[in-house]
Amino acid sequence: MDYPGNLFVVAAPSGAGKSSLVKALLELDSHVLPSVSHTTRPPRGQEKHGREYFFVPDAEFDQMVQNDAFVEWANVHSRRYGTSKKMIEDRIAHGSDVILEIDWQGALQIKRIFANAVLIFILPPSWDELRSRLERRGEDSPEVIETRLKNAADELAQAKEFDFVIINELFERALFDLKAVVHAQRLKYQAQRRARADTFAALGIL
Ligand code: 5GP
Repeated sequence: MDYPGNLFVVAAPSGAGKSSLVKALLELDSHVLPSVSHTTRPPRGQEKHGREYFFVPDAEFDQMVQNDAFVEWANVHSRRYGTSKKMIEDRIAHGSDVILEIDWQGALQIKRIFANAVLIFILPPSWDELRSRLERRGEDSPEVIETRLKNAADELAQAKEFDFVIINELFERALFDLKAVVHAQRLKYQAQRRARADTFAALGIL
């Protein structure tokens, strides 16, 4: 499928800093829009329905799966999460760039459907740092942290399937890298031709 907007997919083990990086990018670049996923997990803290996620009961999620409403969905930490087809197609079809913050299984499914999607994997600088970030976050019990770290070992092995890897050691540096990936994608021939059709026409380039 070819659309005027670019599709970026960011995955990482929990604690690598994926959400903070994506949030900072969205604040800096109004041309990039988020995709709000559906999930069967309950809201945490200040999360709002329709902002972080659409929080739906299991039955509604089942119905959406049956109606083929998801481009991809996956079980993550025993809850289900899915990206609605309509949400991303509406946005990239209108020329916006869309960024998805999803798990690696979803990212690989997206790449099968949208071959031009740009897959970005965020790595922590070390195991020690990943553990201390999860502990500092204070959101999870020690057992949950152990499970997340165990899952992270499998998740890291998927990084090789991604187009870009960003090591989130210094936040500002990692944000610079993420902006660089987005910018480089916009400079690709096809993207430039779409974005600057008038210039190409005036120069007589096909
Ligand atoms: P959390 O519950 O901490 O918000 O998210 C747990 C994991 O699910 C994160 O890795 C997050 O990126 C992933 N996730 C969120 N939305 C989706 C989605 O629509 N599809 C998939 N495959 N994963 C998602």
